[in-house]
Amino acid sequence: QQLTLFPLISMSYGCIFTARRIQISYDDLLQQLNGDINSDQLYLQNQLHTTLSGLKALLTTEVGNGMERARRACGGHGFSSSSNIPHLINVFIGSLTFEGTFDVLVQQHTSSLLKRLHKPVNVRTRDQSMDLFGFLNVDPHETCIASSPSLLLEPPVLLRAFQVRALKTLLQSSHHRTSLHFQSRASMGHAESVLLQCFYDGVLEITDKPLQAVMFQLWQLYALWRMNEHLGEFRMDNYLNAQQASWVQESMLGMLAKIRPNAIPLVDGFGITDFELNSAIGRYDGDIYRALIERAAKEPLNKTDVVE
Ligand SMILES: Cc1cc2nc3c(=O)[nH]c(=O)nc-3n(C[C@H](O)[C@H](O)[C@H](O)COP(=O)(O)OP(=O)(O)OC[C@H]3O[C@@H](n4cnc5c(N)ncnc54)[C@H](O)[C@@H]3O)c2cc1C
Repeated sequence: QQLTLFPLISMSYGCIFTARRIQISYDDLLQQLNGDINSDQLYLQNQLHTTLSGLKALLTTEVGNGMERARRACGGHGFSSSSNIPHLINVFIGSLTFEGTFDVLVQQHTSSLLKRLHKPVNVRTRDQSMDLFGFLNVDPHETCIASSPSLLLEPPVLLRAFQVRALKTLLQSSHHRTSLHFQSRASMGHAESVLLQCFYDGVLEITDKPLQAVMFQLWQLYALWRMNEHLGEFRMDNYLNAQQASWVQESMLGMLAKIRPNAIPLVDGFGITDFELNSAIGRYDGDIYRALIERAAKEPLNKTDVVE
């Protein structure tokens, strides 16, 4: 259950930090647009637009899949309408289709990345904007420098690993130009690298040190979870060697025990009210069974005894 739910909590916080970070870049770009658009601004606009296409494809897919995994983690109650989970899934799931489906968005995203790979543009980003295409400048032949499990968890090591993986998957897509599979993998590689960077930037900005420490653990869990899911891409050309790869899974599982004491406050931190959630099993007071009986009693079929 912890391996099902804790990565979803970490991804949710990652989404919040990423949305904030991208909004800052977007607002910064808007401020610059007070007349004719120059080529630098056009480039930054393209960076944002294409990256957001990939992030939309990544996050709607992962959240949709995550909601279903969370539903199954609740057993039969997750299927019951008293949990409200089926309704919440139904409300969300349309977002995988509207504003662009996965297969269409990843093509848009990757073809733009390939254009920049083959035709680099030298634009200096302002302080407020991120260099969303910075991964194009890493060395695809380098290997991971971590010499112990704890060094693998260091932010520069994890961030670098995701950048190299993004470039490697993009190079693969370049070699298989017509393959939607490789386009998807390149798009996801870049989107996850951007999300990890935005999430990390957000954690650095937290001024409350104990809270920052907890969020940092969530950040590490997110990175290890994604690495473990796509370990083959991080093992390409032995970027992670066999020993480093084994540390990924061990560290990810070890992280669950560290997060466990804070799991409930982390979920409460989303600030979703009982009224919004409307779930008999997700109540703030935890009084699940009384709430289930009350809901069942309200069903029209239960107004009379079965034997009557
Ligand atoms: C809840 C909801 C709300 C909506 N709200 C609005 C709205 O307010 N306004 C509005 O205008 N529209 C709205 N839509 C429509 C929505 O934008 C379209 O359904 C969506 O863009 C997908 O287009 P389509 O239905 O024509 O599917 P298609 O484009 O026919 O896609 C069908 C399948 O083929 C795949 N596919 C399509 N093209 C390619 C390609 N080139 N390569 C590989 N695979 C491909 C897709 O990924 C998909 O899996 C809404 C849809 C939903 C579900």
